[in-house]
Amino acid sequence: MNETRQNDKVSVFWFRRDLRLEDNTGLNEALDSGRHILPIFIFDEEILKELPSDDARVTFIYETLFKLDRQLKEWGSSLKVYKGSPLEVWKKIIQEHEIEAVFTNRDYEPYAISRDASIEELLTKKGISFKTFKDQVIFEGNEVLKDDGKPYHVFTPYKNKWLRTFGESGLEIGQAPGQRVSGHNSKAHFLQQKSEFPTMQVLGFKEASIKVRPYDLSCAAAYEKNRDYPSIDGTSHLGPHLRFGTVSVRKIIKSLNPAHEVFQSELIWREFFMQILFHYPRVVNENFKKKYDGIVWRNNEEEFDKWCRGETGYALVDAGMRELNTTGHMHNRVRMITAGFLCKHLLIDWRWGESYFARKLLDYELSSNNGNWQWSAGTGCDAAPYFRIFNPMSQLKKFDKEKRYVRKWISELETDAYPEPMVDHKMARERALEAYKTGMERY
Ligand code: FAD
Repeated sequence: MNETRQNDKVSVFWFRRDLRLEDNTGLNEALDSGRHILPIFIFDEEILKELPSDDARVTFIYETLFKLDRQLKEWGSSLKVYKGSPLEVWKKIIQEHEIEAVFTNRDYEPYAISRDASIEELLTKKGISFKTFKDQVIFEGNEVLKDDGKPYHVFTPYKNKWLRTFGESGLEIGQAPGQRVSGHNSKAHFLQQKSEFPTMQVLGFKEASIKVRPYDLSCAAAYEKNRDYPSIDGTSHLGPHLRFGTVSVRKIIKSLNPAHEVFQSELIWREFFMQILFHYPRVVNENFKKKYDGIVWRNNEEEFDKWCRGETGYALVDAGMRELNTTGHMHNRVRMITAGFLCKHLLIDWRWGESYFARKLLDYELSSNNGNWQWSAGTGCDAAPYFRIFNPMSQLKKFDKEKRYVRKWISELETDAYPEPMVDHKMARERALEAYKTGMERY
């Protein structure tokens, strides 16, 4: 096969949020294209400029790329790593190489869509085709629609349609290039070239102390029973792996069986929020439900700082925020409680909390973060009703009765050093109900 490849021009495979060689749709398509493949990655300065040099997600990407490059080097190739504004980098790449086509997997965030449009324009002008593929989801925005062709706003009917469509899809799992089909050695389809892998220093990064832990699917069987208790390690920690594509979502879905229904549902929530963002990019800055536009948020900065530091005097809120600040992860039940507390008890705009989570979460995903924040604030598509206000004390009794989780994260709990509640629950509840009601009347 190798000798039949045309050697003059190459095709490029552009890694983005699909950092793996195994079951990578766009990469497999590129390997089948009949050209040698130059694999590349671009550290995007537009994104990096918002982040500290020791951002844990950047370290994770760097370390993942390092491993990927090592594997490619074993096959006589290597990963070419660039840093800059993607459009400028592409101008350089097309000068360096004779390119037939660029292959990549689709990204549905508004920034990525406009970035890709500008790059496609550049490439097309040069006669290079830009080929994109579905990879990070089972179903893209337009594949699960209501019978009238409109997008779903409510999760349960979306999920039912998703499951029906999945049943009919006959989904196939691809394989790693090293083991695709015997006699069809796709490893050799990578362009034989040795690029030096840049050091962290050259890229201007510092290694983060927070690390992404491996995912673990052994939780799936008892997921329904355990998932709400933050002191139990009962969830998969798949978040960052799905975010950066170090695992294929098809592989995860295929590994589940009907007993894992609740776990599978969570993966469908992920796609639900992705299609919401795709169809309604305005949610990035706006309430999904406009009737809440009239809410007057209190937005007290000192109170916000206490929330960020985990010093509200409500143990479950504080433990959650400290877990987030220390590990880059927070248990889902506690995410709901901390988010609800910020929006309802403190009447701080959900966008403030959303952007704090965006800075800290290893699994930060615009669609899921935005969707869940709007769910917590009551402003979202299929949101908790605005009058549902979690009581952080009864949540503690229900989900961390033995106080194992809160004691783990708050060493001074039950001592004089731990602050009194910063706001009275009953008063805050009534204040929130009033603010939401008046907000809706104002709208
Ligand atoms: P598991 O419980 O093992 O679930 C498996 C996978 O299903 C997750 O990794 C995730 O991909 C998906 N999933 C689970 N719950 C949800 C959900 N409610 N919405 C969408 N997908 C879900 N999840 C993110 O991936 N990124 C975020 O930025 C994010 N921000 C959130 C903000 C708030 C305020 C809340 C309440 C939830 C947020 N979530 C977010 C959803 C959820 O909390 C995390 O996906 C989950 O805690 C990650 O841990 P895990 O990988 O062990 O999840």
